[in-house]
Amino acid sequence: MNKNILVTGGAGYIGSHACKALKAAGFVPVTYDNLSTGWQDAVKFGPFEQGDLTDRARLDEVFAKVKPVAVMHFGALSDVGQSMREPGLYWHNNATGSLQLIEAMVAAGCLNMVFSSTCATYGEQDGVTLDEDCVQRPINAYGASKKAIEEMLANFGASHGLQSVIFRYFNVAGADPDGEVGEFHRPETHLVPLILDAIIGKRAALTVFGTDYDTPDGTCIRDYVHVSDLVDAHVLGLEWLRAENGSRVFNLGTGTGFSVKEVMDQSGIVTNKPVPFENGARRAGDCTKLVSGSRRARDELGWQPTRSDMKTMIEDAWRWHQTGHYEA
Ligand code: UDP
Repeated sequence: MNKNILVTGGAGYIGSHACKALKAAGFVPVTYDNLSTGWQDAVKFGPFEQGDLTDRARLDEVFAKVKPVAVMHFGALSDVGQSMREPGLYWHNNATGSLQLIEAMVAAGCLNMVFSSTCATYGEQDGVTLDEDCVQRPINAYGASKKAIEEMLANFGASHGLQSVIFRYFNVAGADPDGEVGEFHRPETHLVPLILDAIIGKRAALTVFGTDYDTPDGTCIRDYVHVSDLVDAHVLGLEWLRAENGSRVFNLGTGTGFSVKEVMDQSGIVTNKPVPFENGARRAGDCTKLVSGSRRARDELGWQPTRSDMKTMIEDAWRWHQTGHYEA
């Protein structure tokens, strides 16, 4: 039986880990990536088809060649700050690109998608724990573009029978424990690799984006989940889809929040080095607190995160950070 899964963004941080997990589960992950933010060296676990999500002709060609049984759709821009400065990029790449992908899927008769959405679709919610039924009120263009894609999936589900598992990620951190793939963005914008860059002196200091939030230490609170646990949930989601359960939304987080200062403190402990930092202004588009209601994926998919404690996440990220970058 055909086990091909088209993985958009398979050359990126999360997509490359997903390809590894898919291969281990007996699937053939075929990466579709434009290499705008991904790395060809990260495509290690299956074939590579270079292409852009907004290129419908190329998508049609790849669907005809690969005949995937499902799509895992990671390909997206994901920098909250950039999305506030350049929202057009997010609507074009994320929303329009996803529309092209969905229409290509329908045309090819591939009606199963596992989709990477985000807790940024929830927005500010007065500090409550976020479960999947919260009303989504994104406050940045990144979250708004992902919310629009969720709505597209619902519409095409109703009209064309497209089945989707939508995962709303909280903050993803860590790296493959075997060191085969890991996190590396250029420019880097995410907290854990930026802390590690400051520790090794690659940047002078981490800038803490705001110390006047309504939280115990004044810095933003996020719920961090290990990338390997996150992609395990995707394989479970794929099996759930293939069992024709219908469409469903799942949060992927641990249910525990850490402030920026707490992540810095834990990084100092794991690396046994000081974290050079300076306090800075708030970043436009940042929510005060995003912590997951995390039962549904456990109860309905049987998801069991094993590496998502902060210490293990930073240990794995640190090991990768010291050895594993894609650029020589
Ligand atoms: N953050 C920070 N300094 C940085 C980058 C991030 O203080 O240089 C904070 C950011 O304000 C947020 C948290 O770290 O509260 C996580 O940010 P990241 O960009 O990693 O993920 P996001 O929550 O935006 O998806």
